[in-house]
Amino acid sequence: MPEQLDVVVIGGGPGGYNAAIRAGQLGLKSACIDKRGTFGGTCLNIGCIPSKALLYTSELYEEARDKLPKLGIKTTTELDLAGMLAHKTKVVGELTKGVEFLLKKNKSEAIVGEARIAAAGKVEVKLNDGSTLVLETKHIVIATGSDVAPLPGVTIDEERIVSSTGALLLKSVPKRLLVVGAGYIGLEQGSVWRRLGSDVTVVEFLDRITPGLDGEIAKQFQRILTRQGMKFQLSTKVVGAEKKGEALTVTLEPAAGGAQTTIEADIVLVAIGRIPFTGGLGLEKAGVALDRRGRVVTDANFRTNVEGIWAIGDCREGAMLAHKAEDEAVACIENIAGKSGHVNYDAIPAVVYTHPEVASVGKTEEELKAAGVEYKIGKFPFTANARAKTIASTEGFAKVLADAKTDRVLGVHIMGAEAGNLIQEAAFAIEIGAASEDIARTSHAHPTLTEAVRQAAMGVEGWTMQM
Ligand SMILES: Cc1cc2nc3c(=O)[nH]c(=O)nc-3n(C[C@H](O)[C@H](O)[C@H](O)COP(=O)(O)OP(=O)(O)OC[C@H]3O[C@@H](n4cnc5c(N)ncnc54)[C@H](O)[C@@H]3O)c2cc1C
Repeated sequence: MPEQLDVVVIGGGPGGYNAAIRAGQLGLKSACIDKRGTFGGTCLNIGCIPSKALLYTSELYEEARDKLPKLGIKTTTELDLAGMLAHKTKVVGELTKGVEFLLKKNKSEAIVGEARIAAAGKVEVKLNDGSTLVLETKHIVIATGSDVAPLPGVTIDEERIVSSTGALLLKSVPKRLLVVGAGYIGLEQGSVWRRLGSDVTVVEFLDRITPGLDGEIAKQFQRILTRQGMKFQLSTKVVGAEKKGEALTVTLEPAAGGAQTTIEADIVLVAIGRIPFTGGLGLEKAGVALDRRGRVVTDANFRTNVEGIWAIGDCREGAMLAHKAEDEAVACIENIAGKSGHVNYDAIPAVVYTHPEVASVGKTEEELKAAGVEYKIGKFPFTANARAKTIASTEGFAKVLADAKTDRVLGVHIMGAEAGNLIQEAAFAIEIGAASEDIARTSHAHPTLTEAVRQAAMGVEGWTMQM
């Protein structure tokens, strides 16, 4: 290792490892430290990747059982949960190894250990063998990510009262699963276990599911999930969970206060959100400012208040998403290298990988109304899309919001099969400042689901053709 590094990145998640890769590409000498033992952070180890592996296999299982017979394919299906979990573990193993390879390829030193900022320019790493490594560096990037938000009155044991981490490891299908929180993590993991046979109830404090997503989509999405068999108790808070023999008794209370009720479950999944993680880093001693929610405060260029210390990803403000961490990593390292790194937060998509998928980018109608922005809407249902018909997946719609005066695309919200892929065209449109007419006049291959987005864009100027 060189005497003096240019960048030490603390955390090997999508923020940290992409920062180290970009540093290597720009000729900066870097090290990337993670205490977990495998690289890839929350995303690859216990988040995006294992959850998507289970979402995929559980969807196939349900389709083989319920959908294929309707399409002229006779099947007999039997669940092999151990096999499903093995697929997930294999994918995680391959991808985390892949990150190590990428770090090596970009000449970043991958160090397993717990890092602490001793001072600006100095990082101490407690290695697994108990020894301490001291790194001298020009810049430190904090990319320590986030952790599960605790729920007062409910103690997570990762066996019967689980977080998203424990929910990825259940050895058998719970008969009754109670999910606390109707955000994307709760709905995705609730969907996995419902497909495999659980009776799933979702309890949500707010009066709606998927807070932050388009309200119209949220309503329809809840109806679809209810049709699939998920039960919802909105405007309700979970105030306690007690083990009583084989079962858990969960105490509920109306969000506005009132009489308590109880509900029984075999497994409780706490998915009320995530909190920034900066514990043990020595930030106070180093003088790095945190906001009241415990997030590292930075300026728009990812600089903290201490010269030479930067922060990116879940540990700072903004959406807790892997690609947001990645985008910030690129911009932050480019700024360190004297370039002009920048992130356009309006063009960061968000996806819920249920079936149908829900995807959005840019502003929601609620946000535009609150900001007093005049906008036009174009909408198109997948029932009228030829490809959706051919794949027997016609639920949902695409909605394009554009500025009433300039036609600039302000937001796109899609619920339907492959919405997570379809949203990318909209993210690009917002990134380049395109008009809805640009989408409407771009040729879209037929028959594809992308045509629904085009037809919705045509609808902004009132010329949707296929409806
Ligand atoms: C169940 C689940 C599903 C998700 N699905 C998606 C999805 O589909 N799409 C999406 O975009 N996002 C998803 N996310 C969110 C995504 O995982 C995070 O936004 C992303 O991982 C944040 O990246 P990061 O680099 O900021 O932090 P992290 O990935 O959390 O990485 C931080 C790393 O820092 C390490 N660390 C912390 N402190 C120290 C220290 N002192 N020394 C050394 N190492 C340290 C930790 O071990 C950790 O590995 C999901 C999250 C969960 C929990």
